[in-house]
Amino acid sequence: MDFELSEKQKLVRSKIRTFAEDILAPVAPVVDKELRFSWETAKELSKINAWGIQIPEKYGGACLDSISFVITIEEISRICPSTGLNVSVHNSVGAYPILEWGSEEQKDKFLYDIATGKKLAAFTWTEPNAGSDAAGIESIAVEDGNHYILNGSKIFVTNGGVASVFLIGARYKRENGEKGIGVFIVEKDIDGLEIGNLEDKLGMRGSSTTSLYFHDIKIPKANVLGNISEGFKIAMKTLDVGRIGIAAQSVGIAQAAYELSVKYSKGRIQFNRPIVQFQGISFKLAEMATNIDAARLLVYRAATLRDKNKPFSKESAMCKYYASEVAKDVTREAIQIHGGYGFMKDLTLERFYRDAPVLSIYEGTNEIMKTIIARQILRGNL
Ligand SMILES: Cc1cc2nc3c(=O)[nH]c(=O)nc-3n(C[C@H](O)[C@H](O)[C@H](O)COP(=O)(O)OP(=O)(O)OC[C@H]3O[C@@H](n4cnc5c(N)ncnc54)[C@H](O)[C@@H]3O)c2cc1C
Repeated sequence: MDFELSEKQKLVRSKIRTFAEDILAPVAPVVDKELRFSWETAKELSKINAWGIQIPEKYGGACLDSISFVITIEEISRICPSTGLNVSVHNSVGAYPILEWGSEEQKDKFLYDIATGKKLAAFTWTEPNAGSDAAGIESIAVEDGNHYILNGSKIFVTNGGVASVFLIGARYKRENGEKGIGVFIVEKDIDGLEIGNLEDKLGMRGSSTTSLYFHDIKIPKANVLGNISEGFKIAMKTLDVGRIGIAAQSVGIAQAAYELSVKYSKGRIQFNRPIVQFQGISFKLAEMATNIDAARLLVYRAATLRDKNKPFSKESAMCKYYASEVAKDVTREAIQIHGGYGFMKDLTLERFYRDAPVLSIYEGTNEIMKTIIARQILRGNL
């Protein structure tokens, strides 16, 4: 097992770190305060190919491996978690399924615009009556000649107000009576698609979260993703990939809070010495460093398995579960280390603290992650 990053992966880290510190740092508090997605940032992200991290070069992407993907998401999230979310969702649950299950026609039609950031992508599954119970979705697409007619709604869609390409999960009913769950590619300007209002949120405020409403949307059959009867399987495999991105986002948030804590505790003097010299504080730093390392290694393992075409569903759930808990713990302890100053809006820290709770909710809650892990254990995958 090799714990060293390759020269190319190290280059990705240093390039993205510089980009994040130079370009994202000034914008991150603004988008948080103003509750808005930044199109200026989106254009800058296009310049470094961050919208097409793993898309092949022939479609305009950077064609990098999964370790480079998680490094990119970690480094972006270390400075601006909202941007980390937007980029992770677009690349993983947005672009990946088209790359994996799309027809040649769909790839030619969508991937270039997705890779270059001309069109942002969203994955829409959650509904008012179907969150953790993903198989309980009620949106329905009824076959009608060469089309499916879609009705229903979605909630909590990341990139909802800014995406041009939506991957939509829905039940389907064919003319021959066959029923199931399919995935449909729907473009923003199609008749019958209504985008809901921007959700106001505790954190990740630089990410656009909206509902979607479907009113007799006429979807051409050419826009069914993969085999229509395999939609649920496609969604679950897609989420396996997405969760690695969310885990990387968690590592980035934890790393940011940890670094701020080290710096602050070295400079803050109480009882005539830096507070880092009190064991009560230095032990907190030791725990943070250890847990972040453990989380990062779990993320790298899942990413490596994916690159080696080995099963990674359990490992993806494990890294998402563990890293998100680490991010919540580290951001909370970081505030404690900063004392009263940590509670003030002037410091960056409270933003990371507000961004962290959703990490153990979206792309499957941690209770569901444990269900996935336990199911694999019971199947003999110890
Ligand atoms: C900011 C944000 C962005 C999001 N982006 C997207 C997106 O882009 N696309 C998308 O489709 N969805 C998105 N979601 C939705 C997200 O995936 C769901 O919120 C999540 O899956 C949980 O569903 P729920 O909110 O309905 O909670 P529920 O499923 O109602 O769960 C409520 C509680 O019950 C627990 N629970 C439920 N079932 C079980 C069980 N069997 N065993 C133990 N505990 C259980 C849960 O863990 C949770 O603690 C987003 C959510 C947020 C907040």
